[in-house]
Formats: sequence, structure tokens, C-alpha cells
Amino acid sequence: MRYLSTRGGMVPLAFDEAVMMGLATDGGLLVPAEIPRIEPQQLRAWSGLRFQDLAFAVAMPFIGAAIPPADLRDLIERSYATFAHPEITPVVKVGGHWILELFHGPTASFKDIALQWLGNLFTYLLERKGGTLNILGATSGDTGSAAIYGVRGKPRIQIFILYPKGRISPLQERQMTTLPDANVHPIAIRGTFDDTQAIVKALFNDLEFKTAHRLGAVNSINWARILAQTVYYFHAWARVTGGDPEQRVSFAVPTGNFGDVFAGYLAQRMGLPIERLIIATNRNDILTRFVQTGVYARGPEVYQTLSPAMDIQVASNFERYLYYLHDGDTARVRTLLETFAQSGRLEVTGDRLRQVQADFAAAAVSDAETLGQIRETYETTGYILCPHTAVGVRAARDFPEAICLATAHPAKFNAAIYQAIGREAPLPAALEGLMDRTPRFIELAADTEAVKRQIAASMQG
Ligand SMILES: *Cc1c(COP(=O)(O)O)cnc(C)c1O
Repeated sequence: MRYLSTRGGMVPLAFDEAVMMGLATDGGLLVPAEIPRIEPQQLRAWSGLRFQDLAFAVAMPFIGAAIPPADLRDLIERSYATFAHPEITPVVKVGGHWILELFHGPTASFKDIALQWLGNLFTYLLERKGGTLNILGATSGDTGSAAIYGVRGKPRIQIFILYPKGRISPLQERQMTTLPDANVHPIAIRGTFDDTQAIVKALFNDLEFKTAHRLGAVNSINWARILAQTVYYFHAWARVTGGDPEQRVSFAVPTGNFGDVFAGYLAQRMGLPIERLIIATNRNDILTRFVQTGVYARGPEVYQTLSPAMDIQVASNFERYLYYLHDGDTARVRTLLETFAQSGRLEVTGDRLRQVQADFAAAAVSDAETLGQIRETYETTGYILCPHTAVGVRAARDFPEAICLATAHPAKFNAAIYQAIGREAPLPAALEGLMDRTPRFIELAADTEAVKRQIAASMQG
């Protein structure tokens, strides 16, 4: 399989090159030259597979000759050996919905599913080719810790994670700042999550710096992350339908960067019988407004909400969807994104808008509704939803039997849980004892040059 840029300005790459590159060099995102099609009888045959074997089956056509099958199997086995549940991503019935529990990895968020795999993939490719990698990422909380746990202690890799100081939960901060591994560098930025994301983007667009310092990405722009996340859509569909290709299911997806829901869209394009993909946002609702009106426009500011992993104004994976919506017309995608860069707004109309509304339903959920949903679910079933998951369940109100993605363990957001139900969720084993450890981090202003200097200095040390 070859990989192309959504903006059309690159020669095709193999899977391993695409993974190491992250963001395309022309500023676009990498996408596969074609989407493999899975036939109904194949879906049925896959439905009994354990998660790891299904991951292999789903990933193989996207990887092709870039990784020998035996090595790929080994990578996948090792990546999910760190999970605390034998099913990896179990589905449970809660009230009228299914809850797809994606939080049984080492940092108790769904991001582990992609990042445990990506960490092993990076090491594997570096060992094979030689060389080193400096991973740079921005996090609103969950990505950073999941990325750090994906590569901690691994040879040939350093990781630099920027987070907005004071704007992530204390537990999340401890997750990132209490590991002893010398290759882990947490950087607290005095600013918002968008500031940290802007710095990371500036460094990746600075090709000289990027090349000299061998920067790699872990944010959801990396194709390998999308691919790993696609697996649990297949897995959950199989568990809920018993593998009957006649049965369609809807998925409710709490999203900010459009990463997780794009993985669902990919599964659908591959042939998974998905009825509706429900985009669930909080008050930062650029994606919901887009689905409802066709206008994709920056809001006035980023609002802090009870679901902070979705406090995002501009969705980094959205460009991939625009590419497919415009049937791979890279010139059109480039024009739209240039318009957006200049004016903070782009628009799709007519048949394209009708296509958007056929692909997705969408709802924006307020903090009050989020708390109300946590309370209602707890009172009627005893199950505690994390605030992000609650946003999804609330958005799926009119979709009985929908599969709602549970993107984090509730104990990661116990302040909100306490506010909703007057008690906290018990910590999973993965999070015990963290608050007793001493944090270690570097603090910097929201200044690209300062971050550059820090990375260069840490690399020499
Ligand atoms: C990252 C994250 C999300 C949003 O994921 P996207 O990549 O923006 O789709 C939702 N919930 C939690 C708990 C997260 O960590």
C-alpha cells in the first residue's frame, strides 16, 4: 500500500515511511492510495477472532510488504499484552446502550490502544533501519501520558510532550511527570492546549528543524493511530451482532480532533455495516456545527469543559475526511484549507453537505447535560461514565442500542464524577499510587523558540 498527501504535493510513500513521517511534508495529512474493501463473508469469518488477530487482519492490507507478517503479529501481541482485560476492548450493556470500554490499557484511556502499538512500531522500524527519533506532541491530557507509556524506556527514542500547565487534571499530570525513564521529557507550557498544538505544528512545519532533530509525531495525525483505532469498531460490531453482516449498528463517538470518529468512518468505508456515526462534542462544537450547516468555522475561543480531552477548536484529522468527501480531489482540499487558514472558515454545500449528513449525526453536549447523563446512568444502572463517554451517551439519546465509545476510565476525571454523583469512581490498578509520587517536568512560556532550545539541549544531554 502506498500513502499520499491530502494536498497532493508528495511522491507516494510506503507504510513505514508514512508512519515515520507523521505529517506530510506539504502540510497535508497522509492517506492510503486506496481503502481495502472487506466483503460480508470475510466480516463473518473475522467475527470470532480475538482482538489481536483481528488487528492483524485489519492492518495487513494497509501495510502490505512494509512489515513481514510474522513481525507484525509479534508487534501486535506485545502491544496488547499490557492491557488489563483479556478482551482488550470489551463491550458491556448499560441501560439501552452498549458501552465499548476502551480504557483497559496502562494509562486508562482509549489512546493506549493506538499508542502501545505505535511505540513498538517505532522501535521496530528504527532497529531495522538504524537511527533515532525524537517524538514531539501536544496533549490536553490523555494523549501525552498514553504516548509516554507507549515509548518509555525504549531504545532510540526520546519523547517531548507539551501540555497546558494547570489545565489538565492533577492525576493526568502525575501520569506524565512521575516516570523514572530518562527518555521521557514532559514540558509544561504557560498557555492553552491550542497554544501547545500551535507550537508543535510550527516545529513540524520548520523542515530544517524537523529534519535536523529527527522529529516524529504521535498526535492523531499519524496514520498508524487511525489504523489501530479502526480495529475496535470491527471488534465491537462482531460482539454485538454475532458477526451477522445484515446487522447495522450505530456508534457514538466523543471526539475533538476527529481522530476517533475518522477511524469509524474508515471502518465504514472498508465495508463494516455501520448505520450512523454520531459525532459527540462538548461546547467546543466546530464539528457539530459543520455537520448541521456545512460551515466549518473557528469559534471565538476554546472553552474549558468537564471533558477536557475534547476542548479543541480545530480538528486536526478533519482534513482527511474533506479529502474523501471530495473524492480525493487534492487541489480542492488545498483550496479549502488555504481558505480556512486565512479566514478561519470553510464551507461545503449542496450534494456534499447532504453526503456529510448521511455520513454523520452530531450533537453538542453542555457540561450540565454531561453531569446529568453521568447521574442518570449511575442512578439507573450503577455504572459510572467518564465525562467524555457521557457526552457520547447523551448524544446517542435518540439511537437506542448504539455502541457508545467509553474513551477513558471515570477515575481519571473524579472531580467531575464527584460533582455528578457525590462519590468518586474507584481507581483502576493502573492509576494507583500516582498522587504519592513527585512530579518532574520543565516549565516554559508559550514560545516556539524556547521549546526549540529545550529540545536541542535535551538531545545533547
Ligand atoms: C483524546 C480523547 C478524546 C477525543 O479523541 P479524538 O482523537 O479527538 O477523536 C475523547 N475522550 C478522551 C478521554 C480522550 O482522551
